[in-house]
Amino acid sequence: MLLSKFFMPVLKEVPKEAEIISHVLMLRAGMIQQSSSGIYSWLPLGKLILEKIIEICRKEMIEAGANEILMPTLQSADIWKQSGRYEDYGKEMLRIKDRNDRDLLYGPTNEELVTEIFRTHVKSYKQLPLNLFHIQWKFRDELRPRFGVMRGREFLMKDAYSFDIDYTSSIKSYNIMFISYMQLFKKMGLKAIPMKADTGPIGGELSHEFIIIADTGESEVYVEDDFLKFENEQDNIDYNSDLQKEVNKYTSFYAATEEKHNPNDYSNKVNLVKTRGIEVGHIFHFGQKYSIPMNASVSDSEGKNIFPYMGSYGVGLSRLVGAVIEANHDKDGIVWPREIAPWNYHIINLKSGDDNCNEICSNLYNLFKENSISVFYDDTNERAGTKLAKADLIGLPYQIIIGPRGVKDKLYDVKDRKSSVISKLSYNELLNFLNINM
Ligand code: ATP
Ligand code: MG
Repeated sequence: MLLSKFFMPVLKEVPKEAEIISHVLMLRAGMIQQSSSGIYSWLPLGKLILEKIIEICRKEMIEAGANEILMPTLQSADIWKQSGRYEDYGKEMLRIKDRNDRDLLYGPTNEELVTEIFRTHVKSYKQLPLNLFHIQWKFRDELRPRFGVMRGREFLMKDAYSFDIDYTSSIKSYNIMFISYMQLFKKMGLKAIPMKADTGPIGGELSHEFIIIADTGESEVYVEDDFLKFENEQDNIDYNSDLQKEVNKYTSFYAATEEKHNPNDYSNKVNLVKTRGIEVGHIFHFGQKYSIPMNASVSDSEGKNIFPYMGSYGVGLSRLVGAVIEANHDKDGIVWPREIAPWNYHIINLKSGDDNCNEICSNLYNLFKENSISVFYDDTNERAGTKLAKADLIGLPYQIIIGPRGVKDKLYDVKDRKSSVISKLSYNELLNFLNINM
């Protein structure tokens, strides 16, 4: 991508409405624009990052055996009346009337709608277990939208729903989602810690929140010191195997959100840390809470009617963009983890009036493209200092900095954005570094 053709309205000033660093940086880097309180437009850079996060999540869900569907944002109030949540949900739910005076709502979550789909089509235990997921915008009329996309009113969620014939099998489904969450956050370059959590309006008895530790996080959490140091080494998971042991690896540590924190639940040998974090995912096991009132039954092997056991599993995809920045930035800007950077390399032409610089940069850019290496090229006429500052702000993993001096010496600067280390490489060393065989 050429910067001259890329719409990235970078701001020089620190926007005064932004209280936390991720919000400041997202506005400064031209990733989002507020359209009204808690509602945002995603500009090209923001949209590309969001897409990366979506894709990692989607891939892991499919790997874990879930089926992707797409449910609408608008739902009929009728199904929420059946489950009993229409009144319970309160003011966070945006209620709408259509021209025929029928009650609709903008979905804050989808347990009812997915149960309706399920009960229409699934009649036999033979069709179970089943996990349906979708990636869709939600609306919750939050009391205090703030921190940019972290607590929006309209936000993007991946939500999955599992259906099983009995309790034992539904715990297996819960475990699959638990482990898939550990994997997908890891694949985003994030360290998420699963913690015992409250179930809130979704209901149920077993629940975990996945928390990214950050001072600016809204959740107060209690976590065992050793858990903070624990690394998830697992790369690939066999989702057909019994995952209970894997889950126990994590749940053997003490970690709880404030609501679930209980000093009776851990031994006095545990070194406990009280800290803050960002909730990026939340999973619930709630059994027959929706299948019974919504009359979604299937027949078992003896022809008896059974109400399936369900779970629901949410990932805050738009919130994750902010959370990744909270966990990966420095004083100069964002430092994208390689996994979600839209391009790995940022070519910076320090002197676009110079024919030699232009030639080297264009050759490099073309070489990258021929080798399918993702690259962003600042080919604009801006001053060198402005270009360098912009590159640090948008935080691609490597900057390849080409100026008259380097061209003369035939040595090119490659800056690792994370460590700020600059290496001077000859053209061949550069090709080697990029893994290009000429
Ligand atoms: P919170 O406690 O932060 O209000 P929640 O428990 O109500 O979240 P869930 O219903 O568990 O949220 O939704 C699943 C995920 O969606 C959350 O883990 C979070 O990452 C994300 N999410 C929830 N509310 C918002 C919001 N207002 N803005 C952005 N993301 C959100
Ligand atoms: Mg939650």
